[in-house]
This record gives sequence, structure tokens and C-alpha cells, in this order.
Amino acid sequence: MPEKNQILKELEERPTEPNYSHFENYMISIFGKTLYMLFIHNYTKKMWGSEPNELTSNWAINRIGLKSSNSKVFEGEWQGLPIEGYTKLFENMVKDIPIEYNCKSFNNNDDVVLFSGRLDELCKYKFGVLGYRSLEFKNKLNDEWENGDFGTINLPQNPIYIRKANFNVLYQQDKQDSLIQYQKAVPTDDFNKPMYPINTKENFKLKIRYLKEVCKSKKIIPVGRLGLYKYLNMDKAISLSIDILSLIEKWRNLRPKERYSSLSLLLNKF
Ligand SMILES: Cc1cc2nc3c(=O)[nH]c(=O)nc-3n(C[C@H](O)[C@H](O)[C@H](O)COP(=O)(O)OP(=O)(O)OC[C@H]3O[C@@H](n4cnc5c(N)ncnc54)[C@H](O)[C@@H]3O)c2cc1C
Repeated sequence: MPEKNQILKELEERPTEPNYSHFENYMISIFGKTLYMLFIHNYTKKMWGSEPNELTSNWAINRIGLKSSNSKVFEGEWQGLPIEGYTKLFENMVKDIPIEYNCKSFNNNDDVVLFSGRLDELCKYKFGVLGYRSLEFKNKLNDEWENGDFGTINLPQNPIYIRKANFNVLYQQDKQDSLIQYQKAVPTDDFNKPMYPINTKENFKLKIRYLKEVCKSKKIIPVGRLGLYKYLNMDKAISLSIDILSLIEKWRNLRPKERYSSLSLLLNKF
């Protein structure tokens, strides 16, 4: 890279303790200014539709870091995709469980309801709208793919798209044609479903307010990425949900403050 010397100098000069004051400062304290500008700044603006200095740093810790050139983003021992995709996997998991779809209200019995939809919707948006980001996908057949070792390639400098994915690589298929999917981050609306909580300070404050509000209810426990307004990967979303099971039995008998502190305690683990 032409900027190599400057990058090495900035890496040398990094502070011993990262600067957690906001996302941009945090990233610069880890990557140095030049790498930050090349790989993170534009990507962040496209991804979140927010200025990087408006975002908090907490969600990025353990998620975005400096790695050597041959390491991968995820380092879990077990990685992959179900052979027939997730829809089939979940269909099989719930096939013997009676499910009622499109219910417009909760029933009145004593059951506790786990709610995996968006937290602000659950409270009828009474304190305002929580920002969620969504993605739009554009598929191209047999488009250019630079490196067959990687299923997803980030596009930090592209003016529109944040990244592209190659399904032949992701599914380890040896096919002549390849489907390349370009991903563009967009605001949530009726068509674009909420996918990512946007970690600004304002949203964080609003989330706490909503969680306290939900904890007044004996009946409902919010769960998952949308319900808890937390940027969770799949393994963490599942692990947290399993932990939340321990709350179901006692939820009705707890006071609102106790519900909130039990939930916060679990959330802080992730
Ligand atoms: C584009 C993209 C790529 C990702 N890639 C990875 C990856 O590579 N690895 C990884 O580990 N994780 C990845 N994730 C994250 C992963 O998808 C989430 O961690 C996981 O889906 C969270 O599970 P969840 O149950 O919390 O929420 P969700 O999977 O979002 O499930 C919430 C469910 O609630 C339903 N719902 C919403 N509102 C209502 C309502 N009002 N009433 C009833 N139902 C409702 C929704 O339809 C949905 O089925 C990715 C996410 C996205 C968006």
C-alpha cells in the first residue's frame, strides 16, 4: 500500500489504552487514522447512516479489531451454513410444535410471552422510534470475485454497497455459475425489515427507557436482537435466549425493578 510507512508509524504511536469515548475515537485508537479512513470511515457511514462519532464504542469491542492478513473475521471452531439453508432448519425444528401465526394480541392466560419483535413496537412507540438499520440485496450472476477463499468481501470504498457475498463459496458448492449478492444498508420501512440496532447514545438511552417499561409487565419478556436492541450474532442470540429461560419461571413474581436488573445482568454478559 502506498500509505504503508504512515500506517506503520500510526500503529507505533497508538495509545496503550483504547479511547472509548465514541466509535470513531475508539477505531482510530486501534487502527490509526490512515487505516481507519481507508477501511472503516465510509463503511460505517454507509452501514449505519450515522456519523461515526455519533456511535458508541461498546458494540464494536470484540467485533471489529486489527488482525493479521491471514486471519478471518469469525474465529469460532464451528462455522458453516445448514445444507438446505436456515428456513429448512427452523421448519424442521418447529415441525411438531403447534404454532398460530399472525396473532394481533397476546392471550389473557398466565403464560409468559417471549417477544422477538422490535422493542419500540412492543410499547406502541410511546417514547419515540428506536433506529434499526436494514439491508437491500442486489444479485448479479457470474460477477467478478477476487478471492475464492472468502465468502464475503467488504467494500469500504464503494459509494453504494457495503459488501458482497458469493454463495458458491459460502455453501462450498462447485458450480459453473455463481450468484454474487451486493448488500446495501438502508433505513427500515414497511418493506425493509429491521435487522440491526443502531448504537447511538440517543438510541441507547431510549432502549433503557423501553426495557424498563416492558419490565413493568408480568407477561412479556423481550428477547433477541430486536427485542433487546442488542447487536447479537447468532451464537450469542441463542446463548442469551437459553439464559433468559431461567427467568421465565420467576418473571411473574418479580418486581419491575428486579425484572429489569435480572435482564440487564444477563445482557451485560454478551
Ligand atoms: C444480513 C445479516 C447477516 C448476518 N450474518 C451473520 C453471520 O454470518 N453469523 C452470525 O452469527 N450472525 C449473523 N447475523 C445475525 C443473526 O441473523 C442474528 O444474530 C439472529 O438472527 C438473531 O436472532 P433473533 O432470534 O434475536 O432475531 P431474528 O432472527 O431477527 O428473529 C426475530 C423474529 O421475530 C419476528 N417478529 C418480528 N416482529 C414480530 C411481531 N410483531 N410479531 C411476531 N413476530 C415478530 C421476525 O419475523 C423474526 O422471525 C446476520 C444478520 C443479518 C441481518
